[in-house]
Amino acid sequence: MSPVAVVVALSAVVSLATAVLAWHRRRLARSATPLAVGLVAAAAWAGAAAAMHAGLPPAVQDRLVLVQYAGITGVVLCYRLFVDAVTGHRGRPRRVAALAVEPVLLLSLLVADPWLHLVHAQVTYVGDPAVRTPVPGPAFWAHTVYSYAVLAWSAADLVRLRRSATGPLRRQTTTMLLAMAAPVAFNAVSISVPAPYLPVDITPPAFVVTGVLFTVAVVRHELLRLVPVARSLVVDTVTDAVLVVDAADRVVDLNPAARELHPGADGEVVGVPLARVAGPVLAAAVGDDEGETVVELDDGRSLDVRTRWIRDERGDLVGRVVVARDVTGVLAQQHALESANAQLRAHVETIDRLRADLAEEAARDPLTGLRNRRRFVDDLADRLTTALAAGEPLSLVLLDVDHFKAVNDTHGHAVGDAVLVDVAAELRRHARAEDVVRYGGEEFVVLLPRLGAAAAAERADELRRACAGLEVGAGPGTGPDGVDVTVSAGVATAPEHGSTPDELLLAADRALYAAKAGGRDQVASAG
Ligand code: GH3
Ligand code: MG
Ligand code: MG
Repeated sequence: MSPVAVVVALSAVVSLATAVLAWHRRRLARSATPLAVGLVAAAAWAGAAAAMHAGLPPAVQDRLVLVQYAGITGVVLCYRLFVDAVTGHRGRPRRVAALAVEPVLLLSLLVADPWLHLVHAQVTYVGDPAVRTPVPGPAFWAHTVYSYAVLAWSAADLVRLRRSATGPLRRQTTTMLLAMAAPVAFNAVSISVPAPYLPVDITPPAFVVTGVLFTVAVVRHELLRLVPVARSLVVDTVTDAVLVVDAADRVVDLNPAARELHPGADGEVVGVPLARVAGPVLAAAVGDDEGETVVELDDGRSLDVRTRWIRDERGDLVGRVVVARDVTGVLAQQHALESANAQLRAHVETIDRLRADLAEEAARDPLTGLRNRRRFVDDLADRLTTALAAGEPLSLVLLDVDHFKAVNDTHGHAVGDAVLVDVAAELRRHARAEDVVRYGGEEFVVLLPRLGAAAAAERADELRRACAGLEVGAGPGTGPDGVDVTVSAGVATAPEHGSTPDELLLAADRALYAAKAGGRDQVASAG
């Protein structure tokens, strides 16, 4: 046996082993069955071709030719069925019947003696051991042309599949097309090189290589069938409406969710303008640009519409993919959230205002409306710091109503309150609101910013005189002129009498004490 014949024989074994592998996967991939049968056919072809070189009697070799051609025609038939399975073609029984015609005819010619010469015009047994060597007849060439036509038709289908495929499916289709090239090339060599130079048909081993590669593609990556099926399943299952429209905005494909878009659209929608299928509002939203927009339909639904362009190889627009999602619920939630936020903000503002009012209230004396002592000392510290930093003096007058206990005792607490209210009003007339403080029971503080000790003493005396002029609560119980009010005052000035609130208030208090001691109704300055 020649080395080439040994290789051919080995390829038959490999082919059978691969066929078993493919057969076991036939439930997972539709293409595994034609692949397995085709590999058995390739094994028969290779086995018969190799056996011719084993010194068998001519009569046996003549019978082997039948096996050989059953293999050859079987390979072509199964290859076509395999491509059918890969491309998703249905109606296999009719296809099998149609494809079986040529093999049956060819095998009939080989069996029927008078017509054998149509296939093999002349048969000789050449070499040692003698190998059957035919001269091809017209039926052989017809068979060859037919086989190549089927292979070309199948390759064209694969090319088409590859063009529309993406990802792993595309890679696998490429592998299949390349794998097909080897046996075609080997067969062309086998047919065209005369017998003495190439004693045996080398096509079957090449077909075996093809079969092994196909098996890897199908068996190892069952995605081949799974990917397109899964993709269409995903598109059918998603709740988003998915539509494909052509360049003229006619619907080319759509999923079940898209059929629900427009109540007016029923029946056949493929080829129908998008506006009729999805409604005018959505059609208008599918603008000339790619992108995303939210539209509101007449029935109140809101749709988030995304548009993507589909371009051909030259980059021209051939269509659009439109994905529309109902966002009515999401928008309603968003609005509810926004209004809840606005309410919350309003509440927080109210709380802040109330808190400010409360703080203001707490800093104010309810009887006189003046600031009270609470925050005054802190504020005084700030004002002293600022004044001293600016190199300006700051004076402070501490006033105390004279014999106030006696007013209460003689005229009653209500008249005492009226005196305090009137004194407060009088002081406010002479100074800014933030500079007048009700310091204690019948004690008041008046701040005199930017006034030195002498000027402050003068202003303090003005205040004293203003208060002394008051006639409070004129009427029954107090006499026609009312209560005679007098006040005493002590004046201290920063920085000479102190530079902190405590120092300044103590100095003013001492001066006030001196004014009281001096006979009341007078002003004394800190010394
Ligand atoms: P002096 O001339 O030494 O200041 O004598 P005084 O009587 O004014 O001094 P004293 O401190 O003994 O009296 C203060 C009185 O002021 C005692 C208290 O009852 C009264 N008083 C304090 N707060 C109020 C108030 O809000 N309303 C009224 N009606 N009286 C008050
Ligand atoms: Mg007092
Ligand atoms: Mg007093």
